[in-house]
Amino acid sequence: MVYGEMFFSKLPSGLPPHLISRFIKKYLDAGYLAQARRLFDEMSSPDVRSWTMLISQYVKIGNSREAILMYTRGKESGKVKPDRLAILAAIKACAVSGDLINGKKLHSDAIYYGFSSDTLLGNALIDMYGKCKCIEGAKMVFDGLTSRDLITWTSFCCSYVNCGLPRDSLRVFREMGSAGVKPNAITLSSVLPACSDLKCLKLGREIHCYCVKNGDLRDSVFVNSALMDMYSRCSSVERAESIFGNMKRLDVVSWNVMLSAYFRNGDWETGFRRFHELRRNRGLRPDVVSWNTSITGCVENGKLREGLELVVDMQKMGFKPNQITVASLLTACVQLEDWRRGKETHGYMIRHRYTEDPASSTALVWIYAKGGDCEAAERVFDTIPEKDTVAWNTMIAANAMHGKGKESLLLFETMLAGGAAPNSVTFTCVLSGCSHSKMVDEGVAVFRSMAGEHGIEPGAEHFSSVVDVLSRGGRLEEAYEFVVSEMSAEPTPSTWGALLGGCRMYKNVELGRIAAKRLFEIEPENPGNYVLFYNILVAAKLWEEASEVRRMMRDKGIRKVPGCSWIRVKNRIHTFLAGSKKNADELNGFVEEVRGEMRRAGHHPNTDFVLQDLDTEEEQERSLCGHSEKLAVAYGVLAATRNESSSSSTLRVFKNLRMCGDCHETIKFVSKSRGLRIVVRDSLRFHHFEEGSCSCRDFW
Ligand code: ZN
Ligand code: ZN
Repeated sequence: MVYGEMFFSKLPSGLPPHLISRFIKKYLDAGYLAQARRLFDEMSSPDVRSWTMLISQYVKIGNSREAILMYTRGKESGKVKPDRLAILAAIKACAVSGDLINGKKLHSDAIYYGFSSDTLLGNALIDMYGKCKCIEGAKMVFDGLTSRDLITWTSFCCSYVNCGLPRDSLRVFREMGSAGVKPNAITLSSVLPACSDLKCLKLGREIHCYCVKNGDLRDSVFVNSALMDMYSRCSSVERAESIFGNMKRLDVVSWNVMLSAYFRNGDWETGFRRFHELRRNRGLRPDVVSWNTSITGCVENGKLREGLELVVDMQKMGFKPNQITVASLLTACVQLEDWRRGKETHGYMIRHRYTEDPASSTALVWIYAKGGDCEAAERVFDTIPEKDTVAWNTMIAANAMHGKGKESLLLFETMLAGGAAPNSVTFTCVLSGCSHSKMVDEGVAVFRSMAGEHGIEPGAEHFSSVVDVLSRGGRLEEAYEFVVSEMSAEPTPSTWGALLGGCRMYKNVELGRIAAKRLFEIEPENPGNYVLFYNILVAAKLWEEASEVRRMMRDKGIRKVPGCSWIRVKNRIHTFLAGSKKNADELNGFVEEVRGEMRRAGHHPNTDFVLQDLDTEEEQERSLCGHSEKLAVAYGVLAATRNESSSSSTLRVFKNLRMCGDCHETIKFVSKSRGLRIVVRDSLRFHHFEEGSCSCRDFW
């Protein structure tokens, strides 16, 4: 045991007051706050100096709540009378913690104890009001001060910036110049962000000139970084670069500002290259901000893989990804549709307690929902304490794409009851839920409430959604009427596409023709429209018209997008194209086997769909057995029977196009005969197959 610890381990007792305060100071200097506090609490008539020292110490260690409490209790006990330094210390506590209520009380105290024109206290009060975003308070104090120094003006400028009033902050800055007060580095670096906010390059340059003329400011790393940031935010990377190049001394902060200048202005390549230069730099080491700047920069510029690689590098270099890294990581996972990595990131977040950020949680809801696990999405959603509109929209959309229309609608009602404001996306999501679950009247009612109750003007996508709701519900005439007479926006491809889709489901050739004709006009390159219309004609046995459609496609040189499905088994993704040769014997054998079982059980293959494939060159595709989703499911089932798949008994298959009816029937059958849960996501929605039926109830 060292001497110091022995000295501090036992509290002295029975000392005279002036000695106690000396001990308190000694304890505080050595970092023994708790002991100092105990000594103070035992004093019968505590002195204001010890009291102030303790309050300041609490602020210093970040416990401003205790600092304020200590001030208030001391004052109310009547044993100590606050002086200007005690009040100052308590004001600082309020500034740090944004405690406006106690801040105002301290303002009254300052006046009550006779310090209303004290510049030191006035400056602290202005700073406190600014940090509490109460500009009226700051203005009141500023106006009441008889003498204003550099700090007064700087704090007042800053307050406007903090309160989101950059224009006023620049006005005060000019007034400061007229009053003959020269700005210092802090003033300038607090005014420069106001220039960036207003994209006011002119004033920013004036400040730059001022710095060049004033030697001590010219070489300030602080001011130069702020100038670089200002130029970068005003889209002037070259100027930022030239400051950076002329700086005598570079620190990691200036490097970070420069990196973010490149990324922010879309030049990710230079940003990426410069970051590697910094990593090789002998004198400086990138810090966590440098890593995050580059990771976020890559992700925001769409360089997702590069961003993800940097996260790996960052960890190799011994840096821990923090909340900002995690948010970028999740964005990358969403865009890459990398659900597995998204879930891993979630695990990391739980281990490091980064689960507070609502935006990240919302990204996770999406990741789980799109990855096919709606229950997990819901669990994450439930942990978001204050759900904003985006969070609600995401959860509503998640249920909609999993065919849970009732749940979507219920969530929407809960959202409204809780006071969250829906936006136009909310309605798109709810309507999509209604259409996938054939909730026609509900969908129409929601649409009507948009403009009526919520004051949101419906756009083309909402009209299209209603057409979809009506079409899927089989009310095709009504859907067509709606487009012709009610739709105030110009019909889009998805409007007519929704009607055409309905016509395929309900075998309505007449309306199908109208919708197809419009689609061929406004979207002549989309093969899906031709295929859909072709299928309607074939199902109605209108062979001649059907071959005309095929000829039209060939003449225009439009090729069908090849079908493609994928499944993850043992952490590897296996991709199948229609008619894939991969493991052909085994997989085709399985499909044939299932087909035989189905026939014996009285199911007959739905040959409407044989003709879905138009490309005569691709002979394999003509066979229903070769559809990519069948092959992927077969692969998954065989792997599951060999016990190769991971612990969960759910197969998750993804497909780029919509699933055909024959595959749908087959997978329903497999789910029952093999006792498996199979989730298939096609281009439109999720299908949850279990016990021989599908969550879409055969409508999609
Ligand atoms: Zn198929
Ligand atoms: Zn289905």
